[in-house]
Parts: sequence; structure tokens; C-alpha cells
Amino acid sequence: MDLDLLQRTLSDVGEPAFRARQVWAWAARGAPGYEGMTDLPLGLRAHLDERVAFSTLALEHESHAADGTVKALFRTHDGHPVEAVLMRFRDGRRSVCVSSQSGCPLTCTFCATGSMRFHRNLTSSEILDQALHFRRIEPVDHCVFMGMGEPMLNLDAVLAACERLPDVGITHRRTTVSTVGWVPGIRRLTADGPPVRLALSLHAADDALRSQLMPVNDRYPLAEVLDACRAHHARRRRRVFVEYVMLAGVNDRYEQALALAEALDPRAFKVNLIPYNPTGAYEGSGREAIAAFRAVLEEHRVPATVRLTRGRDIEAACGQLAAGARV
Ligand code: SAH
Repeated sequence: MDLDLLQRTLSDVGEPAFRARQVWAWAARGAPGYEGMTDLPLGLRAHLDERVAFSTLALEHESHAADGTVKALFRTHDGHPVEAVLMRFRDGRRSVCVSSQSGCPLTCTFCATGSMRFHRNLTSSEILDQALHFRRIEPVDHCVFMGMGEPMLNLDAVLAACERLPDVGITHRRTTVSTVGWVPGIRRLTADGPPVRLALSLHAADDALRSQLMPVNDRYPLAEVLDACRAHHARRRRRVFVEYVMLAGVNDRYEQALALAEALDPRAFKVNLIPYNPTGAYEGSGREAIAAFRAVLEEHRVPATVRLTRGRDIEAACGQLAAGARV
């Protein structure tokens, strides 16, 4: 819910400050509405019900995949699409993948969101409401900012949302902020952000190819981005996760694996190889090509895993979130 509006509404009727904290505590634990907030006077519950929408987002559609993944499409009050995903893993982990923007101003050529219009930054409440939607289904314990948008372009709201995620059951250490390599954002997170995990979408270890895939590389080239990430690791003592989406015949060759291994200090980075979910001009690398690429990294002692693909049948996999929302 809009927590500022909640606070204003409560103080307008002369309620003490602790009321807002009570309401938030209920919401963060997955309450479905004001009704059951038994430590609030009945009249106040009704008043809030009229004045403060329980969620800033209206659920428009929800799809359920065979593997347990759930994708939700919401609209903001002013009509912009927002998508979020709940991923359920066999070991019990429940991870929510949230959007930080509706659409994205960056134009990565392989990403569906990059081809849709940029609408606007989401507020911290709109980010939290994505997590709360799933919290109302079941307890959640991980959050990744890997939905629509570039978190570093909306860092104030992202950090404000991060501050409240522990109340929802998601600690900072289980929160991951993923970036295209927006250097000022990385630096700010390093200097005074909470101890969340940093993930870097790298996708190519040479500037020419990276600029082709991610035009933002012209602004913040590889050397500068990797520098900022190394500084992050030096200060925070946590490995930076490198995301590398595997595109057949584009960035999956032997020499490219070698170049990647050479660019990354194994103490500071861990690589996640991401099977591509075809959304446009590229084809994804096959299983064997991915395994061979990974083997090269490991030979050079760079830790690497292959990302599990979840929710492909409902277009909920990475980079597919805009697919159903292009209206
Ligand atoms: N803007 C941020 C966060 C959103 S994207 C970032 O770029 O990191 C989250 C991850 O999904 C990124 O690594 C992105 O490159 C990847 N991705 C985008 N489209 C994809 C697709 N079609 N298949 C697989 N991964 C994709």
C-alpha cells in the first residue's frame, strides 16, 4: 500500500504514530486486507478501507506454470503494466522476482522489456506490493530485482523497498539487485547501501560486442563497470554475481569463454550462465554449448553455474516479462 498516504490518513484523524506500524506489520505478514487487523479499532479499519487502497497495484492476470512458478501482471493506478514472478524451488526456497520500473529506458537488444516503451519508475510501495502479493499466497524468503526495469535508475525507491523487505521475511543477504552496469548506482550501493547482493549483467567480455547487445556499454564501458564491481567486492566482501545470457553463435564461443575468465577475478565474481529465452532476434545456445562454456570458466577457477529456467511455459522466464503486457 501507499505507506505515505497511510501515514497521512492516520494522522488526519488524530491516530498515534504506532498505528501505521501496526498496519504495516499485518500487511508484511501477508494479511489479505484491513478487516482482520484485530488490534485496530473497527471504525478505523473501515475508514482505512475507504481511504487507502490495500495495494497500489491491481492484479490483472495471474498465470501458473507446471513447475510451480507464478507470474502476476498488475496495473498501477495510472494504468502502467508491472510484472512479477514467484519462483518455487525444490529445496523450499521461495523467491520473488520484482520489477523496478514499468518498461525500461535501456535498449538491450535481446530483452523483451528493452523493446517496450518506458512508462515510469515505480514507487517503493509499488515494488513492495509485488512481493506482498506473493506473501499473501505463502511465505517468501528471497527477492531478486530482475523483473522489468533497471534498478539503478530508480535506486531511491529500490533501496526504500529493500529496507522493508526483511519485515516481509526477506533479509538483505537474500536480496539481489541486478544491474546493466550503471556505474554511479553501483558506487552508491557500495558506499552506503544495505548489504544486498550485487548482480551484474555482463553478457560479453569485449566492448564491441557488449555495446551491440547493450548500448549502455557505450556510456559505461567494461573496464569501468568491472572496476566498480571489484571495488564493491573489496568493500562488501561478497562476490558479485555475473549474469551471462547464452546466445548461440554470438557470445558462446571458446575464445569468448576464455576472455570472460581472464576478465574476472575468481575471488570477486561468480558467473551465472543463463539459458536464453527467445524473445526476439537471437537464438539460445544449446545445452552442450553452455556446458562447454562453463567448463572453460571452471578450468580457469572462475566459479560458474547454469541458471535453472523456470516458468517458460507462461512466459515468466527472465526477459520475457514484457511479452504479455505490450498493450
Ligand atoms: N536491468 C537489470 C535487471 C533486469 S533483467 C539487468 O539488466 O540486470 C534481469 C536479467 O535477465 C538480466 O541479466 C538480463 O540480461 C536477463 N535477460 C533479459 N532478457 C532475457 C532473455 N530473453 N533470456 C534470458 N535472460 C534474459
